[in-house]
Amino acid sequence: TYNFCAGPAMLPTEVMLQAQEELINWHGRGCSIMEMSHRGKEFMAVAAKAEQDLRDLMQVPSNYKVLFMHGGGRGQFSAVPLNLMQPGKKADYIVSGAWSKAAAEEAVKFGGINTQQIQLKTDGVRSLTAEKDWQLDPQASFVHFCPNETVDGLEFTGVPDTQVPLVADLSSTILSRPLDVSRYGVIYAGAQKNIGPSGLTLVIVREDLLPKADANIPAILDYRLAAENDSMFNTPPTYAWYLAGLVFEWLKRQGGVAAMGQINQRKADTLYNYLDQSDFYRNDVAAANRSWMNVPFFLADDRLNDLFIAESEAAGLLALKGHRMVGGMRASLYNAMPLEGVQTLVTFMQEFERVHG
Ligand code: PLP
Repeated sequence: TYNFCAGPAMLPTEVMLQAQEELINWHGRGCSIMEMSHRGKEFMAVAAKAEQDLRDLMQVPSNYKVLFMHGGGRGQFSAVPLNLMQPGKKADYIVSGAWSKAAAEEAVKFGGINTQQIQLKTDGVRSLTAEKDWQLDPQASFVHFCPNETVDGLEFTGVPDTQVPLVADLSSTILSRPLDVSRYGVIYAGAQKNIGPSGLTLVIVREDLLPKADANIPAILDYRLAAENDSMFNTPPTYAWYLAGLVFEWLKRQGGVAAMGQINQRKADTLYNYLDQSDFYRNDVAAANRSWMNVPFFLADDRLNDLFIAESEAAGLLALKGHRMVGGMRASLYNAMPLEGVQTLVTFMQEFERVHG
């Protein structure tokens, strides 16, 4: 089977097999890594290697802290304003779809924000307003945006050029291609798409943005406390951290994020090219803003939707039903999805079109 779920998503098969083998007897220690103390030397070594591998993969500069936190993407919707909002200043929230909208709605609880809606729909085609047309406050505490909108299937091609710290919710696109960390103040991502299982949240924060010791922030969301305690202020999600480490090792074996970027582009092209030549299916996102990771598509006759889902599941192509806010179908093509999975999907779609078109 191939699992096209938007999240939690499939992990690489190799990683699952390794985890299975190590599950109850990790490295001959007679117990599972999930049963070991997070402060013991075994887990500390696993944790440190995962961090180093991530640093290598993303070429994280030395003036950035890498934090392994709890609370998922939504936890960061609160953590970002709590840690970064400066007194008397507002923050700019760029709203390009469902997740950046949810981030803005949460941030309002913690300070003043300006929101800008930048998703457009013209003649049935959805796109994003060019950055030159955004109104940014040069005094803002930070600018928050979501480079890949998981629900909407829209993504940015460039990195906004801001005077103030740029905060990115990379939950559904982290590690999918190379990225220049130094352009960002804070990067965060729930793990459950390209990193590992849910329960773990990755935060990469520039050191000068860590809050001051007297900041009144719930301890569990405080970047400074997490950094000072090597992400072990409380018991971290150890098993998820270990699995993330296995995924980072797997990514290195694939050739790192540059190689992933090439594979991911091929995967996305394979599906979009097929959609574009078909009258039976369509994707409604402008070419420049099409997501590599989440591809929404529609059948021309939506009375066939239920049949499409039933037959695709029967063919081992799982979780293609679109998000309830968008409808239709959605194929999520995260790192663990091999090119063959996308090719198998396209072959299935061709056959479905032949029979029902
Ligand atoms: N941000 C993005 C871009 C997402 O795709 C998601 C979940 O799919 C979230 C945030 C919320 O993540 P979580 O469920 O871990 O809180």
